[in-house]
Amino acid sequence: MKDTFEEPIYINQPLMPDLDKVTNQMEKIWESKWLTNNGNVHKALEEELKKYLNIPNLSLFNNGTLALLLGLKSLDLKGEVITTPFTFPATVQALDWNGLTPVFCDIDAKTYNIDTNKIEELITEKTCAILAVHVFGNHCEVDTIEKIAKKYNLRVIYDGAHAFGSYIGDKPIGQYGDITMFSFHATKLFNTIEGGALVYNNKLLNRKLSLLKNFGLNGNEEVVLSGLNAKLNEIQAGVGIEGLKLVEEERSKRHVIKKVYEEELDKIRGIRIVTNLSGIECSYQYFVIEIDQDEFGLSRDFIHEELKKYNIFTRKYFSHLCSEFKWYSEIESSKSDNLPTAHKIAKQVLAMPYYGQLSLNSVKKICKLIQKIQRENRS
Ligand SMILES: *Cc1c(COP(=O)(O)O)cnc(C)c1O
Repeated sequence: MKDTFEEPIYINQPLMPDLDKVTNQMEKIWESKWLTNNGNVHKALEEELKKYLNIPNLSLFNNGTLALLLGLKSLDLKGEVITTPFTFPATVQALDWNGLTPVFCDIDAKTYNIDTNKIEELITEKTCAILAVHVFGNHCEVDTIEKIAKKYNLRVIYDGAHAFGSYIGDKPIGQYGDITMFSFHATKLFNTIEGGALVYNNKLLNRKLSLLKNFGLNGNEEVVLSGLNAKLNEIQAGVGIEGLKLVEEERSKRHVIKKVYEEELDKIRGIRIVTNLSGIECSYQYFVIEIDQDEFGLSRDFIHEELKKYNIFTRKYFSHLCSEFKWYSEIESSKSDNLPTAHKIAKQVLAMPYYGQLSLNSVKKICKLIQKIQRENRS
């Protein structure tokens, strides 16, 4: 078809340091013969990240999911945790693996984050925590969540997988709640191929998390608690040291791309931009739009399919709610009556191609094609 991209355009390309730089890191690691277990590169990355994120306490893990799982474990929680259905499966799976029961709360129609007006009605005697997600980098209403948590004596954990490096006002996002998780998966803005971290204000958690990610083994080879193996290795840390040097430039490029998307999409009826923070408040992780079928004239699914014909692969992210997992069918809060906004949004949301290497011409072309598809198909 005319206007088809020669190469497929995906929603993401991993941020990759020059291979030479990575090779230099690898040579040092090879010479040291220290490949994992809190080696020098791991320690160096922890220090670099604390500086970059402006956070006093940070622990690295081999992925974000195990970081979250063990972060929850470190708080000794029992019972029910109020959370969002509009997230990546890992958020609620981390609850499952701790024997905690999710209680699904509906989401806010603008930010897609947990709707703080609906949290209190879900609190019972069994509630022990709130697990909220800064979805697509949009900030949760952290102050309201904190107030509710204080009132009912609940812990607060944030899944910040989409919010790396961002601020709320002038405060780093990781300073809110008891613990915040960041993911360093290859698709995330900053990556260690696979990896993740927890950040927290209570420095006493540091030792417990070190035990939890290393079989609960203390220095004397005693097992003092039931841990797992969730350590980031030296190779991943080395890739991370080089990748972190590229993050600021990548953010700047994505800032420019975002501006072009905003200008071009502003002309199209029925499209709303969901990720509209900017500057230090923005994580530049995703560029997400919402398609209102009545106003736009076509459904989100239709646009998603049509764009494929031009070699453009957007993502219906998240089109499946976690509350729809079959093992939650008996849970009262997973009923769709309880989650009307989440169900509506799941049908409207679309994540657009978004990475520093994406040319501005490509961005313009993608937006023009959306207009063209609308013109040619709407009834
Ligand atoms: C990526 C992601 C995770 C999981 O992180 P991994 O590092 O891939 O284990 C968890 N929650 C959200 C919202 C994510 O996007």
